[in-house]
Amino acid sequence: MADKINAVKGMNDILPASVPRIDRLPDSALWSWFEQTVRGLLVRYGYQYMLTPVVEPTALFVRGLGEVTDIVEKEMYSFTDAMNGDKLTLRPEATAGIVRAMVEHNALYNGPLRLWTMGPMFRHERPQKGRYRQFHQLDVEALGFHGPDVDAELILMVRALWRELGLVEGEHVRLEINSLGQPAERQAHREALIRHFEAHADVLDADAQRRLHSNPLRILDTKNPAMQAVVEAAPQLMDFLGEESRAHFDAVCDVLDAAGLAYRINPRLVRGMDYYNLTVFEWVTDQLGSQGTVCGGGRYDGLIGQMGGKPAPAVGFGLGIERLLLLIQELRLPVPAAAPAAYAVVPSAAALPQVMVVLEQLRAAGVSVLQHAGGGSMKAQFKKADASGARYALIFGEDELSRGEVTVKSLREGGGEQVARPLAEVATWAATLQSPASNI
Ligand code: ATP
Ligand code: MG
Repeated sequence: MADKINAVKGMNDILPASVPRIDRLPDSALWSWFEQTVRGLLVRYGYQYMLTPVVEPTALFVRGLGEVTDIVEKEMYSFTDAMNGDKLTLRPEATAGIVRAMVEHNALYNGPLRLWTMGPMFRHERPQKGRYRQFHQLDVEALGFHGPDVDAELILMVRALWRELGLVEGEHVRLEINSLGQPAERQAHREALIRHFEAHADVLDADAQRRLHSNPLRILDTKNPAMQAVVEAAPQLMDFLGEESRAHFDAVCDVLDAAGLAYRINPRLVRGMDYYNLTVFEWVTDQLGSQGTVCGGGRYDGLIGQMGGKPAPAVGFGLGIERLLLLIQELRLPVPAAAPAAYAVVPSAAALPQVMVVLEQLRAAGVSVLQHAGGGSMKAQFKKADASGARYALIFGEDELSRGEVTVKSLREGGGEQVARPLAEVATWAATLQSPASNI
């Protein structure tokens, strides 16, 4: 046998639930359910779907995310196009690409836009539970709105998503928010920060020392326990906010308060990209170890201008799909089963042409039907029908077919009732097979 070729480390297959695996990654049924839930929700908030390429010019991320960020410094999959020497990068996040596309198409000309996308992102990190080299994000952006109403809308929309997925806010996921103010306020804070950290230079690790003058704000984001005390004592940006920034932040909080959404103001929440200002937020969980941030976002009013567009404000968030689904699995939340509505038992191969025509009619009527394939005894076929999780078995036995009928047998617990249905009138009874989970 030839050698096997395996997936690239940190890049995962999302497989059907019926394929056993040891790495506990979410199965594709959970994935589809999430996607459907998200689509329905975003439509109700008026967000429009869009897609951008997975590969972009490297310069897009260097300029957009900032040179001194974890992503640009050490996590990007960058390469030179062997054909023409172009410097390209597999996208590590979605915002820069969406902004590039909007600027390129002059899309904000007719007014602001609410947008969303979903797909793979790539970061060269150390793979572990909840942290992969290819992972997937739901990404939602509202471009051209000054807020604070849209900031709050995005946060409430994520809460609505939690509720639809069965997650309880405050218990399974908690909201943290902060304000990063405006550039001038950050500058004043930055100078105070540098002075503070210079005074404690002896406890700074190598990363922090390197960032002291290039990006001291990021030192606040450190996960190094030895630096916690000095980080906690650092001057807080909140104290440097001017009246307008403060009012923006308070207005977001007012909506959250009115909506009964509890949050923690976390002055150390700074986020990993340089482009943020004013509102930033994260939804965090305690259940996934140090991969506890499920969703993060904020306002980035400077980015569109920085990308060559007519300056316009913007706000958005990214949600890590693997992390979220791992959390749902870990909490054992009830999720709809990915089972067909019906399983077709076909005892005789000679009946197949007639049976398959009926199955086509059922599917056209919206019923999910799994056809037994490969022959076998009635007993063996019934076993498969049970294992499939279908609610009904459709028995196309010789007797039934000779009467122009199919027997519909309930497979549900305590079921077993059977009813004969006419093959000539599928449309009249197809709806009786519908199950709520049949569209997964
Ligand atoms: P972290 O601090 O955990 O590295 P981040 O701040 O780098 O997260 P963002 O760039 O804000 O993350 O991306 C938004 C979301 O995407 C994160 O909250 C997380 O849920 C998810 N995410 C980020 N990186 C990864 C990864 N390598 N693997 C899986 N999910 C990820
Ligand atoms: Mg990261």
